[in-house]
Amino acid sequence: MTERVAFFSAQAVNQGVDLQASLTRVLARHWYVLGDEVKAFERDFAAYCGVDHCVSLANGTDALELALRAVGVGPGDEVLLVANAAFYGSTGVHLVGARPVYVDVDSRSLTMDPQALASALATHRPKAIIATHLYGQLAAIEQIAALARDHAVPLIEDCAQAHGAQRGGQRSGSFGDIGCFSFYPTKNLGALGDGGAVVCHDAALADRVRSLRQYGWGHKYHNDLPLGRNSRLDELQAAVLNDKLPGLDAANASRVQIAGHYQAALAGLPLVLPAVGDGDHVVHLYVVRTPQRDALRDFLGARGIGCDIHYPVPDHLQRAYAHSEPPPHLPETEQACAQVLSLPCYAGMPLAHAQRVTDAVQAFFGSTA
Ligand SMILES: *Cc1c(COP(=O)(O)O)cnc(C)c1O
Repeated sequence: MTERVAFFSAQAVNQGVDLQASLTRVLARHWYVLGDEVKAFERDFAAYCGVDHCVSLANGTDALELALRAVGVGPGDEVLLVANAAFYGSTGVHLVGARPVYVDVDSRSLTMDPQALASALATHRPKAIIATHLYGQLAAIEQIAALARDHAVPLIEDCAQAHGAQRGGQRSGSFGDIGCFSFYPTKNLGALGDGGAVVCHDAALADRVRSLRQYGWGHKYHNDLPLGRNSRLDELQAAVLNDKLPGLDAANASRVQIAGHYQAALAGLPLVLPAVGDGDHVVHLYVVRTPQRDALRDFLGARGIGCDIHYPVPDHLQRAYAHSEPPPHLPETEQACAQVLSLPCYAGMPLAHAQRVTDAVQAFFGSTA
């Protein structure tokens, strides 16, 4: 039997990192929360992103929630965001008691359509905008940032899939008011468990998140901000991230290389391919589109190839927060959810595996032509 082609391999992405050494450093110090590793990571990750401040957190969902709180979003407020990003942003919005107002995506990039955002801003007074850099691809962030500035609305970037993505030398997380990251193991920069962070230019904003991550403390045992909580990155995860950060650009380049194989081998098939090629796409996920998505997924699955759907259900149709009002009209979002399929793509993926994927996709379309 031929070897399975895995959708993701934690072993491959951690190849070449001495994880024992990272952990041993912490075990030797016996300081486990908010110590030297966290300090070093916050300093180096801020510098990497090209901002002045990084505040590490327990996970990416907390990053979105605390960013929303820190820019002043509260109960009853509206937040503009897309509905095709797995409900992460929506979760944050609901957690602060605000209401999501969904904006459709651009049919090419599947990220927030600036024109749809402009229309929404003409009829809504949101307290924040969340722009998600979906699949590793920078959204039309310059246009979105200009609209946010014109309307004086804080802009939150969801960078949880786009560590290191850059345009014009500027990296994800540095375009808006505050950028949110996750270090979940499958992300472009992944820990050995959960982790997250926000990055920003503004010291006061960073201070608010720093306070909110630790009970709302101004200083120890003095609770100055309401609705604080415990959301800290631990030293063991920070140590791993410190040792993996220097390899992030190379890891992204490896993903881009796999994507390059796909782009060349799949061109000409009746598939919509992603716009990969520049540094503004770090290929967290390699996502193709076809009306025959389910048949293609089954065909690949039967040949031992792991693939997945990111994401099958748009936020406005999720059951948890079903609205009484009529659902918004988001045709591009709904079509994308019905047609997207993610092929295996991770740092260190063997090219032979990518070859097997493209052979199988070609066989699928050969057989249905
Ligand atoms: C993974 C992810 C998150 C959530 O991060 P967690 O660390 O799992 O909470 C948020 N937004 C996007 C776009 C993500 O991909």
